[in-house]
Amino acid sequence: MARLVLKFGGTSVANIERIRNAAVHVKRAVEAGHEVAVVVSAMSGVTNQLVAWVNEISKFYDPREYDAVVATGEQVTSGLMALTLQEMGLKARSWQGWQIPLRTDATHSKARIEGIDTDVLSAALAAGEVAVVAGFQGVAEDARVTTLGRGGSDTSAVALAAALKAVRCDIYTDVDGVYTCDPRIVPKARKLDKITYEEMLEMASLGAKVLQTRSVELAMNHRVRVQVLSSFEDKPGTLVVDEEEIVEKQVVSGIAYSRDEAKVTLTKVADRPGVAAAIFGPLADAAINVDMIVQNISDDRKATDLTFTVGKADLDRCVKLLGEQKASLGYAELKPDPNVVKVSVIGVGMRSHAGVALAMFRTLAEKGINIQVISTSEIKISVLIGAEYLELALRALHTAYGLDAA
Ligand code: ASP
Ligand code: MG
Repeated sequence: MARLVLKFGGTSVANIERIRNAAVHVKRAVEAGHEVAVVVSAMSGVTNQLVAWVNEISKFYDPREYDAVVATGEQVTSGLMALTLQEMGLKARSWQGWQIPLRTDATHSKARIEGIDTDVLSAALAAGEVAVVAGFQGVAEDARVTTLGRGGSDTSAVALAAALKAVRCDIYTDVDGVYTCDPRIVPKARKLDKITYEEMLEMASLGAKVLQTRSVELAMNHRVRVQVLSSFEDKPGTLVVDEEEIVEKQVVSGIAYSRDEAKVTLTKVADRPGVAAAIFGPLADAAINVDMIVQNISDDRKATDLTFTVGKADLDRCVKLLGEQKASLGYAELKPDPNVVKVSVIGVGMRSHAGVALAMFRTLAEKGINIQVISTSEIKISVLIGAEYLELALRALHTAYGLDAA
């Protein structure tokens, strides 16, 4: 008798018919003899609507009230799912974050989970009752409702699976797994049977939107087996697992992209100690995340160009901030460019194979695509290129690394 956590995303609970369909998966797991906890998202579109209402009332809203509003989407689906399961003859009840409790810090709208009390929940599961948990929400020390950031019910599900020592956390969504690349752009993309935590973490943080990045971090730290699969089809999805479990390792497992970044270049920045700190300090203070950074060595040891990327949503603020400090920073020109995309090739096999970066640079060169910025880690290489080359680059790289479906 194993414990399972099944999580259903917004499209899988988008209406009553789909909730019934999701409930069939739950019923099957119960009938197979498992103890089952279910985590639900809000019906698709609902959270967006709730956020929009908050913004309509106030631009600088009280984040505690924001959470009180946006957490309701999941309360609705948890109740509807529990009712549906009951109608199917199963024992089930809904659990709100505060009822478990799923305790978080007080960083409203993007709270972090601090702990999950499992005593009461475990007792319910042991008694054969399906626990239907409202995802995305928790409770802070002062008893106020918190939410975990957009996409946060993935994190709820993985955290619950870790706390309950579940054998697996199944994330039901509207795609049937994790692909080598976005199939909407690369028709020859293939579904992966397995992917390592490290690769999935890179894929998620580099733009693949299947799982919330934090949920993958959590799964990796607690070694939770995660499966991403479709609630609309009856077939296995992609398993996110330990590297040791993957027998045939590809050098490159996947290619991710992000349209969410913008490039900023500062020309003729003084080449002396403290300058980078002077530039990036104020950005950090303004909570503007900087991703890729390149700085040249200057020819004359006096001045050099500095290029970096920030989230597109932060570009205007970044330009304003650095513009205000032009005199003290002492650069010549500030050139923002939102017309870029970041393309990343990812694979744990890179650790032991040479020439992976070279293959990327060659492939892009053959297509006449100019690389603007490069950054690497142990298992990924990212390049920034002109946005108009996205499709061409993804398809060419997918072929070059032997990822195309037969
Ligand atoms: N409903 C929340 C959102 O849309 C949480 C989730 O679905 O994961 O962000
Ligand atoms: Mg989601």
